[in-house]
Amino acid sequence: MAYVISDDCVACGTCQPECPTESISEGDIYSINPDTCIDCGTCADVCPSGAISQG
Ligand code: SF4
Repeated sequence: MAYVISDDCVACGTCQPECPTESISEGDIYSINPDTCIDCGTCADVCPSGAISQG
């Protein structure tokens, strides 16, 4: 299961450069492409809002 970003996202952008597969897209709320996410958990570890979890 890919990781997902919840409504708690404040679009700070912290996670995006940390993703090794460039699976995170910008937006009002950031989003993760489930087709390229490798479930590494790096983004969840760096999110200051705790908005990223395993889907
Ligand atoms: Fe990228 Fe890893 Fe987060 Fe998936 S779990 S979006 S591969 S940083």
